[in-house]
Amino acid sequence: MADAKKDKIGRREFLKDATLGAAAVAGGARAAGAEEIAHSHAQEQDHDHQVVPDDIALRVRALESVLVDKRMIDPADLDAVIDAYENRIGPRNGAQVVARAWVDPEYKARLLEDGTAAIAELSFSDGQGAYMVVKENTPDVHNLVVCTLCSCYPWATLGLPPVWYKSSPYRARAGIEPRSVLAEFGTELDDDVEVRVWDSTAEVRYLILPERPPGTENMTEEELAQIVTRDSMVGVTKIAAP
Ligand code: FE
Repeated sequence: MADAKKDKIGRREFLKDATLGAAAVAGGARAAGAEEIAHSHAQEQDHDHQVVPDDIALRVRALESVLVDKRMIDPADLDAVIDAYENRIGPRNGAQVVARAWVDPEYKARLLEDGTAAIAELSFSDGQGAYMVVKENTPDVHNLVVCTLCSCYPWATLGLPPVWYKSSPYRARAGIEPRSVLAEFGTELDDDVEVRVWDSTAEVRYLILPERPPGTENMTEEELAQIVTRDSMVGVTKIAAP
């Protein structure tokens, strides 16, 4: 719940920064102000920002502001919808897929063979018709997902992509120095573990099947689904033993 609140604040702060950054740059002579904004917010927050926001962020901010000003939407309702897709509906679907694969070897085999069909068995399908590929993390191989071009992400199983997944630093660095990026998420891998990075596209999206942690042998499928985290299904973290 605390994480959900943090994400919600992060989204609002992100949009506010986008507007402030644009105003500073648009001022020309005030460009130094943009640097100050970037610097101060980098200190205040634990995720990365672009000083100059992209067009989409500005458009979203403008649209949201107008709709709120005209009292056509309530910001709290928007936050509730986004929270649902980011934290409740989305990743919980992926967690059910992972838990099923952990307890049912035949399902796991189908999942790795044809991710789209196996995920559809649980009635989760991407409304955008995305082709799903599932990669299994093992003691020898660690898989990590990024979208270097933009923010392609498996909505049906993971919900909305988190801010860090869409950030320029993650997109730029995940493929070049994945071990450093993983370490920043607290995932330290031994040198003999092979790291594979998968670049999502609008056509192909990935779900990582994390390693089942030790000490979970007696847990039910439902209990297992509860310990599966969003970040582990992107491949930036492992699942800790309960
Ligand atoms: Fe993308």
